[in-house]
Amino acid sequence: MKKKIETTEGREPLGFIFGVGMMIPEFERNLEGMKSGDQFAFSIKAAEAYGEYDDTALVEVPKNMFETDGKIPEGLLEVGNMLPLTDEKGNNFQAMVAWVGLDKVKLDFNHPMAGVDLFFSGSVESVRDAEAAELEHGHVHGAGGHSH
Ligand SMILES: [Zn+2]
Repeated sequence: MKKKIETTEGREPLGFIFGVGMMIPEFERNLEGMKSGDQFAFSIKAAEAYGEYDDTALVEVPKNMFETDGKIPEGLLEVGNMLPLTDEKGNNFQAMVAWVGLDKVKLDFNHPMAGVDLFFSGSVESVRDAEAAELEHGHVHGAGGHSH
């Protein structure tokens, strides 16, 4: 079963800096050496994209973990919700509510695209050298990127 996840149709092309870790390595490998106008269509297996789905990343926690002033905010713990969390080192990450019980919830720490085989098709709009400022900022300026 294929599902369209993202498209740039009718919008600006996706701009990225090659070789700096912005994209999935396997994505770059498939586009390596391409020039303006080149067409591509390739797939990337889940294991080489966002990883296989990991059953052990499904964790049951007590609901009261999410209480503020003794109450769980209305609508917070609903299946499919993404919860913004912070670990003890202060890193922000997200977990999806996978199941809600009486006093426990199951959180899914897998990447939302874990276990998903990806397929890409399109064409290369243009290729150019990255500017020093772009490398410094870690994103593309101009068409398909930031305008600031
Ligand atoms: Zn910038």
